[in-house]
Amino acid sequence: MKNALKPRVFVIPKEVSGISEGLKGAGFRAYLVGGCVRDLILGLRPKDWDITTDATPDDIAKVFPKTFYENEYGTVGVVNDEAEESLKVVEVTPFRKEIGYSDSRRPDRVVFGGTLEDDLKRRDFSINAIAMDIKDTKDGECDVEVIDNHQGLKDISSRTIVAVGKPEERFAEDGLRLLRALRLSAELGFKLETETAEAIKKHASVIKKIAMERVRDEFVRIIMSDRPGDGFRMAESLGVLKHVIPELSQAVGVEQNKAHSFDVFEHLIRAVEHSAKRGYSLEVRLASLFHDIGKPPARRWSEEKGDWTFHGHDVLGAKMTVKILERLKFQNKVIDKVSRLVLTHMFFTDTEKITLSAVRRLVAKVGKENIWELMNVRAADRIGTGRPKESPYRLRKYHSMVEEAMRDPITVSMLRVDGSRIMEIAGLKPGPRVGYILHALLEEVLDAPEKNTREFLEEKTRELSALPEEELKEAGERGKERRETEEDKELSKIRKKYWVK
Ligand code: ATP
Ligand code: MG
Repeated sequence: MKNALKPRVFVIPKEVSGISEGLKGAGFRAYLVGGCVRDLILGLRPKDWDITTDATPDDIAKVFPKTFYENEYGTVGVVNDEAEESLKVVEVTPFRKEIGYSDSRRPDRVVFGGTLEDDLKRRDFSINAIAMDIKDTKDGECDVEVIDNHQGLKDISSRTIVAVGKPEERFAEDGLRLLRALRLSAELGFKLETETAEAIKKHASVIKKIAMERVRDEFVRIIMSDRPGDGFRMAESLGVLKHVIPELSQAVGVEQNKAHSFDVFEHLIRAVEHSAKRGYSLEVRLASLFHDIGKPPARRWSEEKGDWTFHGHDVLGAKMTVKILERLKFQNKVIDKVSRLVLTHMFFTDTEKITLSAVRRLVAKVGKENIWELMNVRAADRIGTGRPKESPYRLRKYHSMVEEAMRDPITVSMLRVDGSRIMEIAGLKPGPRVGYILHALLEEVLDAPEKNTREFLEEKTRELSALPEEELKEAGERGKERRETEEDKELSKIRKKYWVK
């Protein structure tokens, strides 16, 4: 075999090496290929495992007890119910040879009976076109022979993505490869080789032929990678972004007001980079990327201020976000959350002037379940603007107010009896005595929460109602004071947590 390299030892799960053994035992050849080989060499944990073989789909099905045909390319899923999740199905595909790609999405015809060389030649990038032949297995460690016809090992060590064969042809053939190149670059931190990058630039419009679901999947992988900013900057500079999210491309060079050092695009990119650095959710990352997407169309020059204004960019941006995410076929749940985050990202944080009820209104607008993610979007927005501190006093104070606004305050409504029940038991008309009794009961319950039962409280009500007016009033006042002390304690606990007064 040409380019066969010295054997090396790798840790390969027995579910995978077992399939190679099974095929070889039946007289076939079998090789690990694709992303799993790349990841093994990089010392990463492969997400899935692929095997290629000279066996036909029917041959494969005969060798293993439980299999199913996965697609029209002859891939057979070998099933192992006992294995851990990522190994439950291992894909085994006969050596592929493809004929023609007239629609830039899928081969016109796939023929079996190719060779390993054919199979490696039709793969996208050299780093994904290395094969491993498992020679020997001992305690999960495998001696392998590496077959590297396209110099993938060299490109892995120089951390470069290089198309297999003629880059132009390969991208013209299948537009998904363009996005895969950007995604792999963002995930692995690899650069694009010059000719490969040039070819992407030249054929960027092929993207338009790709199913939106597949575009979305690659887009999600870029935004969930450690380097979404690099991915989107590269997508922009290679002319790919305008075919995926033109709204974002239109933010390039859009100058902001004097408070900002970056244009809208760079600001959004920095915001999403911060979200990735913090490991935030998909929704927060999307909202970071889109929070100011309404700015380019909302921008107006104000003679009075001698500066740009962006009135209504939050409302407009939320609408644009819905459009973009619907186009990319995101789930409604995701669209709803991200657009709410974009809509509310402008909340006013002057804690000197803001009231708790204003904070409550914001919580109601964005939704209780989304409020902390909104705080994360705001932190990303800040960092994206170039401010050094993620959480200055003002924002910490705001967080503390959010927590205050969301907690259930200590009041007599916590009691398992209410005013009307008390009037019934004590034979009272509405008046201050009812309040005294409620507060006296609250004091009991604050001392011993297990006393908050109907039975205990009703019995206690009878006792209290028999007290003379003065004594009952005193008990009520004590309860009120106690309630205030407890409230203060809870509030200072929250404020202490955020280091604010
Ligand atoms: P990961 O599993 O981390 O997503 P991967 O490179 O393994 O990355 P898969 O979608 O699992 O991606 O594909 C397995 C292999 O199939 C790739 O490594 C590559 O060799 C080949 N491949 C996938 N998509 C294409 C494509 N569009 N054109 C050519 N080859 C492809
Ligand atoms: Mg894979």
